[in-house]
Amino acid sequence: MDFDIVIVGGSFAGQSAALQLGRARRRVLLIDSGKPRNRFARTSHGFLGQDGQPPSAIMATAAGQLARYETVEQREGQAVDAVAAEQGFRISLADGNEAAAGRIILATGVRDHLPQLPGLEERWGISVLHCPYCHGYELNQRPVGVLASSELAMHHALLVPDWGPTTLFTHNAFTPTPEQEAALAARGTKIERTPVVELLGKSPALEAVRLADGRTVGVAGLFIAPRTEPASDLAERLGCAFGDGPSGPFIIADRMQQTSVPGVFAAGDAASAMANATAAAAEVMAAAGAHHSLIRH
Ligand SMILES: Cc1cc2nc3c(=O)[nH]c(=O)nc-3n(C[C@H](O)[C@H](O)[C@H](O)COP(=O)(O)OP(=O)(O)OC[C@H]3O[C@@H](n4cnc5c(N)ncnc54)[C@H](O)[C@@H]3O)c2cc1C
Repeated sequence: MDFDIVIVGGSFAGQSAALQLGRARRRVLLIDSGKPRNRFARTSHGFLGQDGQPPSAIMATAAGQLARYETVEQREGQAVDAVAAEQGFRISLADGNEAAAGRIILATGVRDHLPQLPGLEERWGISVLHCPYCHGYELNQRPVGVLASSELAMHHALLVPDWGPTTLFTHNAFTPTPEQEAALAARGTKIERTPVVELLGKSPALEAVRLADGRTVGVAGLFIAPRTEPASDLAERLGCAFGDGPSGPFIIADRMQQTSVPGVFAAGDAASAMANATAAAAEVMAAAGAHHSLIRH
């Protein structure tokens, strides 16, 4: 066996698991393909002790600290397959190498599917946002919009007024009921029913959205709720069961982050219905779960 545990994904969740296992002096391979979900944002917020740091700086600090643990090997690369093998798993890497391990932790994150609108993708993570707690403060209480893709936009439309005067663009995605209209009015949220056709301003800043009838509405930020999907197909290849979250599928795991496949653990966004960096990094239970299962084996 080359490693006790292979961790696939070396961002908040994967590095956090590697730290715990390195401190347990276990042989760990941490493999990462370098595409964390928040790589589009210039700064990361709300993560204790690291507020306002670029996401890459947080990762680099953690990688430097992990390098002190001699049983942890950090490797850039992509895991392309994983199969059950004698007493564990065999993981295939894109560079042709293989690694044998007793346990796997999947910390592979999710991928966001953005609405298709001119000017939207280039502003993702800067002025087009999904999480007001992460980036709403930096909008400095200027007018903001919520672009609906389903009735779930009600959640944003009721929450976001705490960060700035809010317009809900229903965008033909749903029609608020009279009760919902009253709730929105109570929060001061305006409703705009004409679809949005374009985002305007010196990108990546946002100044306004253009509507289908030619009018423009000034907004400094636009909140969306993208559909998510697993960033890697490894969980599916291994046969892990998935649940259906409000934004997309996630790997089902128990309190110790054990998935439906014995020996495969999952952490972070990949295994959460709703997540952020703090929650992903806090999932040290995947490390504890994998470690305990090696001891009890
Ligand atoms: C635009 C944006 C801004 C955000 N800002 C904030 C913020 O300010 N504060 C906050 O708390 N949260 C923020 N979030 C949420 C935060 O990014 C995620 O909750 C967090 O990154 C989840 O960490 P993770 O380790 O689970 O997954 P990720 O950070 O997505 O990392 C997964 C890692 O696994 C790697 N990987 C995937 N598949 C493979 C494979 N097969 N082989 C090898 N490596 C693989 C990827 O390359 C990636 O590095 C933001 C999200 C977005 C989209």
